[in-house]
Amino acid sequence: MALQLLRHALVSLLVVAVHAAGATRAGGDMHHLQMVTSTAGTARAVASCASWRLGVETNNIRDWYSIPAECRSYVRDYMYGDLFRQDCAVVAGEAAAYAEGLELAGDGEEVWVFDVDDTTLTNLPYYADTGFGAEPYNATYFDEYVANATAPALPEVLELYEKLLSLGIKVVFITGRHDDEEAATVKNLRSAGYHTWEKLVLKPSSLGSSVVPYKSGERQKLVDAGYRIVGNMGDQWSDLTGAPEGDRTFKVPDPMYYVG
Ligand SMILES: [Mg+2]
Repeated sequence: MALQLLRHALVSLLVVAVHAAGATRAGGDMHHLQMVTSTAGTARAVASCASWRLGVETNNIRDWYSIPAECRSYVRDYMYGDLFRQDCAVVAGEAAAYAEGLELAGDGEEVWVFDVDDTTLTNLPYYADTGFGAEPYNATYFDEYVANATAPALPEVLELYEKLLSLGIKVVFITGRHDDEEAATVKNLRSAGYHTWEKLVLKPSSLGSSVVPYKSGERQKLVDAGYRIVGNMGDQWSDLTGAPEGDRTFKVPDPMYYVG
């Protein structure tokens, strides 16, 4: 009897296993897994663009060159839909609540560091023309876009900016834009609604492409000059990492590109 029961259980297990394998094939799950290759040369599967985006935002996925081809329409819908703006509102809202809760010395030395591209200004018009990050970065076209100085503000970040100024926190922009783009950047910030700032730091054209040493170095200069960085906001993790990071960092969503 016991032997019969055991045999029955084993047969049942086998049936379940075979059925499960067949269902996977019939459902085509495996065939939805498309392999993409990052610049690091490692292949990985993208089964869900939402999961891919979460991985990007949490800095678990790094060193990627372009969005997975199958996520092009997903990223477009995210950027054009309500969710991107809602995500921005959460980030900016948390930042505003944090700033309002600070016990500020009011001595004019408290600053908030902002990145420029896709943080204070949005380059969505450029990316909409170039596949939302699916097509390779077009330096010539992007330089033209910057020179036109027509990038709109990210409304939620502009609102935060006004809140910070009203609290007496000064604003410092640290951007990866080069110093020969200063005039266009000033013009664009002003036309987008950013009217006041303590400093606008642009990258010397002679510097290499490493962002973290440049931006953290500029934050160190602020600290050395006596400023206290109460907040730091950017759309890339490379805007936020590297000491001194600031008392608190805030990541604006950006699933369109990666800057290491
Ligand atoms: Mg940026």
